[in-house]
Amino acid sequence: MLHTFDAVIVGAGGAGLRAALAASPRCKTAVLTKLYPTRSHTGAAQGGMCAALANTEEDSWEWHAFDTVKGSDYLGDQPAIDIMCKEAVDAVIELEHFGLPFTRTEDGHIDQRRFGGHTHDHGKGPVRRACYSADRTGHMILQTLYQQCLANDVQFFDEFQVLDVLISDGRAAGVVALELATGEVHTFRSKAILWATGGFGRMFKVTSNAHALTGDGPGVCFRRGIPMEDMEFFQFHPTGIYKMGILLSEAARGEGGILRNDKGERFMERYAPTIKDLAPRDMVSRAIQTEILEGRGIDGKDYVHLDLTHLDPEVIDEKLPDITEFARTYLGVEPKTECVPIQPTAHYAMGGIPTDVDGRVVIDANDTPLPGMYAAGECACVSVHGANRLGTNSLLDIVVFGRRGGEHMAEFVQDVDHAELPNDADEPTREMIDAILDREEGEAVGQLRAELQQTMTDNAGVFRTDETLAQAQEDVDEIAERYESIAIDDHGQTFNTDLAEAIELGFLIDLARALVAGARKRTESRGGHSRDDYPDRDDENFLKHTLAWLGDDGSIELDYKPVKLGRYEPQERKY
Ligand SMILES: Cc1cc2nc3c(=O)[nH]c(=O)nc-3n(C[C@H](O)[C@H](O)[C@H](O)COP(=O)(O)OP(=O)(O)OC[C@H]3O[C@@H](n4cnc5c(N)ncnc54)[C@H](O)[C@@H]3O)c2cc1C
Repeated sequence: MLHTFDAVIVGAGGAGLRAALAASPRCKTAVLTKLYPTRSHTGAAQGGMCAALANTEEDSWEWHAFDTVKGSDYLGDQPAIDIMCKEAVDAVIELEHFGLPFTRTEDGHIDQRRFGGHTHDHGKGPVRRACYSADRTGHMILQTLYQQCLANDVQFFDEFQVLDVLISDGRAAGVVALELATGEVHTFRSKAILWATGGFGRMFKVTSNAHALTGDGPGVCFRRGIPMEDMEFFQFHPTGIYKMGILLSEAARGEGGILRNDKGERFMERYAPTIKDLAPRDMVSRAIQTEILEGRGIDGKDYVHLDLTHLDPEVIDEKLPDITEFARTYLGVEPKTECVPIQPTAHYAMGGIPTDVDGRVVIDANDTPLPGMYAAGECACVSVHGANRLGTNSLLDIVVFGRRGGEHMAEFVQDVDHAELPNDADEPTREMIDAILDREEGEAVGQLRAELQQTMTDNAGVFRTDETLAQAQEDVDEIAERYESIAIDDHGQTFNTDLAEAIELGFLIDLARALVAGARKRTESRGGHSRDDYPDRDDENFLKHTLAWLGDDGSIELDYKPVKLGRYEPQERKY
């Protein structure tokens, strides 16, 4: 079936919904989403969204920008960071006006709390910058934006999974999607497309990411010749529930929680004397991993403790209700009286589809835009997070750059006609689906995915070396080859989740190959990319963004582009 819109947005998380709200008043806008909108991962975000409102103590957007640049280990593009930190204040107020129920101070202002890496006076001490709604901030953002979209005539295609992008005459022309309920393939003709498909943490075994976070948007673009930027930078969040990876928000430490090793020591004092447990995530994850490797994990095992027992029980009930409930449900631990076992968990993709500050997808080292193509949110790389994202900067990123992307695409579609659709636009998608459905016997999807996740966690995780990355490369290449002969049990048309998972695994494999290739070539340690064999940051050779392309023969080709610097020169990163 053929549909025609001015603007198509792929994804209904915070980024997609905010973009839709910006575009829909000016052009015919559709949102395609594989999940029902309010099931998007944005709804799982707990801790907060930061903005220098200065509601509870002195703050300024410049301090926020400084923290973000330093947090990014100087790989973030400073002009984009300035925009995000400046527009943050307005973005929060706008959400408040949309009806978002933020937690309040006693005098009625939006309350703010501490989060890792956010400081006053350029690193002098922690600052209260994160706006929040108990520990359900993302849930509130998602519900609020969805309500606004419904009130603004955005047309939703729920449970439509986009599997291909159409590019003709060097312009975006449309997308092809599978309707999950019926198995029907639809073509959406559109003057502009905005990707907002979220992250891809599912390539790792222990992850905080929901099942649907399989990198479909970046995967589709990658196969159509669009490069991926900075894929080697993947964030490991320090406090995942032991063995399960389910996130216990940094808000727990923001409210005063402490990490302890087997000896009961507050070990972060040794790694980050100034801000201790509130150091940025890459540093805390490495510290935990080091404690474990040196035998100070709890009972010598591969986890440490998050201690909340000294907090006022009322604070726990009011400000951390959900995450403490997770500890009770999944571990049988009572956080008011017992320590919670935690370990680092794969959490956030700093890399993704390269864009400029208006959400336009840029496809080479000269930042040449691909007309009509946009991306925003976790699937995009602006790059505001550089080599390491600060907590609460993602919920901010999705609303600021979702809005900017949506506004720019609404403007762009005013002056152009639809690009010609390629002949048989949906043919490659049908062929891909049929190839999987028709095969009676072959590799099992679950088995291949487990092998991918195992090698990525073991060999491309918190610490990496050339040896481990070479192993990951060999494993992932072999998995990619075996993927060519996957077979599934369900050959039907109705809600064929076997089929969807098989296709998603393909995207994860492609993106894992880009990640590992970039990581092997980057012989330095910076932010979330930490090499035991190259422990220092190397600004002389690597103050640059990686771009990775999928070559015609399936090989990964790499190039680099300069970091856009600004007021802050790279310095040693001490906290
Ligand atoms: C547990 C958890 C807690 C977090 N807490 C915080 C926090 O406190 N503060 C913070 O700043 N950040 C937090 N983050 C990070 C932040 O929540 C995410 O980075 C952000 O919400 C991503 O938003 P998004 O709109 O880009 O994507 P998502 O919200 O992940 O939405 C992706 C959308 O894309 C759609 N989609 C995907 N593939 C397809 C396809 N092929 N076809 C059609 N649709 C598709 C999905 O249906 C979904 O609607 C947290 C993340 C996690 C996992």
